[in-house]
Order: sequence, then C-alpha cells, then structure tokens
Amino acid sequence: MAEAERTFVMVKPDGVQRGLIGEIVSRFEDRGLKLIAGKFMRIDDELAREHYAEHVDKPFFDDLSSFITSGPVFAMVWEGQDAIAQVRTMMGETDPAESAPGTIRGDFGLDLGRNVIHGSDTEEGSAEREIGLFFDEAELHDYERIDETWLY
Ligand code: ADP
Ligand code: MG
Repeated sequence: MAEAERTFVMVKPDGVQRGLIGEIVSRFEDRGLKLIAGKFMRIDDELAREHYAEHVDKPFFDDLSSFITSGPVFAMVWEGQDAIAQVRTMMGETDPAESAPGTIRGDFGLDLGRNVIHGSDTEEGSAEREIGLFFDEAELHDYERIDETWLY
C-alpha cells in the first residue's frame, strides 16, 4: 500500500464568492481523501509572489496576483494515497474550456484566470512547499476517518 501523500488545495476568490466551498470539499471527501487542515484567509501580495513564484515573470502575473488577493480564499490540506495526482485529475485542466465535464474546473470554471480552484502540481516538492507557506505544522491534524479501512 502506498504512503499517504499530502497536497495543498485552495478554493480561489471566485469559488468562495460563488458559494462553491461546500461542493468542492464534498467532492474530495466523497473520493476518500482526508481533510487535515483548513483556513479561511486573505492572501497578501507577498504570499501571492511566494505561492506563484514560478509565474512572477509571466505576462499574466499581475492579473493573477490581483485576482488571488481580491477576496478570501479557503486553503486546505488533503491527505490520501496519490493525493496530489488525484486532486489534479479531479480539478481538470488549467483552462476550464479544455476541462472535461465532471471535473471541478470543467463543471464550474469560467476562464483561465477564474478557474475556481488551485491544487499543487505533481512536481517533486511542490505540495510540501505550498503546505509550508500556508500552514504551520501544528495546524495539520491527524485523525482516522471511520471508513478508512475500506478506502485503503
Ligand atoms: P494550474 O493552476 O493548473 O497549476 P498554472 O500553475 O500554470 O496552472 O497557473 C497558475 C494559475 O495562473 C492558473 O490556475 C490560472 O489561474 C493562471 N494562469 C495560468 N496561465 C494563464 C494565462 N495564460 N493567462 C491568464 N492566467 C493564467
Ligand atoms: Mg500550477
């Protein structure tokens, strides 16, 4: 059995403002992932630059930064087998127009900028880095889901 893996996920300001937090949390819960941290918060300019460090020199960075800091986000850590890739699959593509129905962006995303959700990419170390940016170790909680023996 593979080691449980952790990934960083956040409902972006458009998802929060459209009332999609519950829907998105439900999808991951139903899939059998375990929520181990959650925080309703506002991202400032500095955190936006750190979180999206790989994009700071891109032409869309200013738009991305003003969007992500424009309102509260719901930041989370989800744990489970192959959690990073599972979440990416459930999210769909970066561009909602290219995302299959049934994926979160395919069902709810509006455009490339307002695509409802962030999830760590599968690059080695990405998820760990993002979790560390948003959460202290003490904010990550361990518990057993009652259905865990069936899921894993
Ligand atoms: P993902 O969120 O799927 O990991 P990226 O890491 O490539 O995608 O980009 C981060 C975010 O930046 C995207 O979710 C999207 O909101 C925004 N973005 C990416 N590419 C563009 C673009 N060409 N124009 C505008 N916004 C973009
Ligand atoms: Mg990315």
